[in-house]
Amino acid sequence: MEPVADGVWLVRGDLKWGMNVYLLQDEGGVTAFDAGTQPMTKAVSAAAEKLGGLKRVVLGHADSDHRGTAPHLGVPVYCHPDEAEAARAPGPYRDYWTMDDLSVGWVRWLYKHYLHRRWDGGAIEPAGTVSEGDEICGFEVKHFPGHAPGMIGLWRESDGVCLCSDTIYFVDSEHLAALPELELDGVAGHEASVPHPVWNWNTATAVESVRKLASLAPRKILAGHETALEGEREVMGRVLEDAAGVRERELAVSG
Ligand SMILES: [Zn+2]
Repeated sequence: MEPVADGVWLVRGDLKWGMNVYLLQDEGGVTAFDAGTQPMTKAVSAAAEKLGGLKRVVLGHADSDHRGTAPHLGVPVYCHPDEAEAARAPGPYRDYWTMDDLSVGWVRWLYKHYLHRRWDGGAIEPAGTVSEGDEICGFEVKHFPGHAPGMIGLWRESDGVCLCSDTIYFVDSEHLAALPELELDGVAGHEASVPHPVWNWNTATAVESVRKLASLAPRKILAGHETALEGEREVMGRVLEDAAGVRERELAVSG
C-alpha cells in the first residue's frame, strides 16, 4: 500500500503487480475505488483495515479485473447505472468483447481460458448507483463511457487528480505488458492508449471520453493498471490527445 495523492492510497496486485485498487480517505475509514482481482481480496482487506476499515466499494467499471474482490469484502458496492447489469452478471466475459481478434495466439488463449476466470470474483448486487456530478470522498464523479458503458472516473479539481479506471490504458493488453516509459519533458509515466477495441463497448465513444479526460486538464492520472501519469497540464493534455488521435485514425482505416 502506497500513498499516491492527498488522502489516496494504492494497493497493487496480481499479474506483474499491474492491478490497481485505490483507497480513499472517508469518514471513519476508507472507500475503495475499483476492486481489482479476486486473488487481491486479502491484501485489499488488510490495507483498508490499517486505514480504519473499509466502508464501501465504488466500481470504475465491472470488468472481471475491476470487480474481483468486491463480492468478498463484506461492504456495499456501488457503480454507474449503465454498469449495474454487468455487475450482476454471473460470468467474467462481456458480450461485446471480441477476444478472437487479439493478434497474439498465446495471449488470446490465456484471456479466453484462464485470466478472466482467475480474476473474477463473481456476481455483485449493487447497493446503489453513482452518476456524473455525484460527490465521493471529495472527488466528483465523471462518466467516461466507451471501454464500458458505465465507466466512471473520480475528479478532484483542487489538485488536478483523476482516478479513471480503464478510461485510458498504460498497458498493451495484446502483449500483457506495460507500455514504454514516456520520454517527454514535463511529464512522467507510461505511454497512454485508448483501450484496445476488443475490450470496448464502443471504441469511438472511448476516444471521446479520453478527450473529455484531457479537457479537465489533469495533473495526475491514476488508472486501473500501472503507475500514474503526472506532469504539467499542457503536456499531459497533449499525451491524451495524441492517444485519442491514434485510436481514431485506426478506426477510420478499419472502417
Ligand atoms: Zn482492466
